[in-house]
Amino acid sequence: MKETIYFDNASTTPLDSRVLSAMTPYLTEVYGNANSVHKVGRMAVKGLDEAREKVADLIGASFNEIYFTSCATESNNLAIRGSFLSREEGKNTLVISSIEHASVLSTASELEKQGAIVKKVKPNSSGYLSASDYQNSISSDCFLACMMYANNEIGTIQPVKEFANACNEKGVLSFSDCVQAMGVLDLSVKDLGVSMLSFTAHKFGGPKGVGVLYIKNGVKISPIVSGGHQERMKRGGTSNVAGAVGLATALELSRQNLLEETSKIKGLKDRLVSRILTEIPNAVLNGGENTLPGIANVTFKGIGGEALLYALDLSGVCASLGAACSSGTIEPSHVLKEIGLSDIDAKSSIRFSLYKQNTVEEVDRVVEVLKSSIKKVSER
Ligand SMILES: *Cc1c(COP(=O)(O)O)cnc(C)c1O
Repeated sequence: MKETIYFDNASTTPLDSRVLSAMTPYLTEVYGNANSVHKVGRMAVKGLDEAREKVADLIGASFNEIYFTSCATESNNLAIRGSFLSREEGKNTLVISSIEHASVLSTASELEKQGAIVKKVKPNSSGYLSASDYQNSISSDCFLACMMYANNEIGTIQPVKEFANACNEKGVLSFSDCVQAMGVLDLSVKDLGVSMLSFTAHKFGGPKGVGVLYIKNGVKISPIVSGGHQERMKRGGTSNVAGAVGLATALELSRQNLLEETSKIKGLKDRLVSRILTEIPNAVLNGGENTLPGIANVTFKGIGGEALLYALDLSGVCASLGAACSSGTIEPSHVLKEIGLSDIDAKSSIRFSLYKQNTVEEVDRVVEVLKSSIKKVSER
């Protein structure tokens, strides 16, 4: 079998072995329910508390502002549905961007069916949102505004701090999906000033199935999963202690050599992009200058993206057609369409997403595989 080259880290990352080691005791001997009063339960509580403390410290929050969930999709649902459920009388408008992740977009359209008014802020042709567009869209009947920190398909980094300022000035709750930026950039809630933000462990070397919603002290939202008293009544269900420990460990590890690793990842991406643009005809980079270090989205004009993706896969290269959630379907990416690409060009675009385990050799191999795959696909 050919060696696998994994350039799909925006979909998920491999579990760091140090994270697995930190989690293992909580999957084996410390099996207690964190709600139980006995010794085994108390050991689980200790693990959960330490994980919460660590996460809080790392993002500049307080212990009781960190809520563990099952994934960022759930965190996003909790932020949006939770604030809709506890909205003040007469506040029915939700402001989001048109390039949010499916977990935000589909939640917004469900709330629309329940009487919410959804306003969508559009990006410019490079994929950037502007805080002043939000300012203009936010009125006194708005219960929440959402701006993702960085786009998962094209990597564009958004002005979340200015967005939060605009929301705070208008007295409106603000929320940012920080999934793609967490573990890559040094995010701090104090610096950002948002009311809520979400992230998920599996995008930075942690396990799948555990996420966080940061909720600033004083912000009141209703739970959407009711049950026990877990997560201070915001999210019922027996705590995933091993998951929380894994998330906290992965986040801590990501911060240890953050600048070095970020510049390494960016170096790899820059090499990939510059080789693609100079060596492959009709290739266009989407997303402009200020993007995440690891994400490159390229349109290979005139080449079917799906066919190219399969050809890459046959040669052991894992990449993606924009969002993982939309691969397998033939719908062109909503993000690429929002930045003005035609359906054809959107379907000719591939996302390469790199992370710290990737190497220069892999980048060079991917360029060669791309060239031969494009040749194969065009000959059909
Ligand atoms: C992956 C992703 C999510 C969903 O995270 P899960 O933990 O897999 O539910 C949400 N938002 C963005 C931007 C993502 O990239």
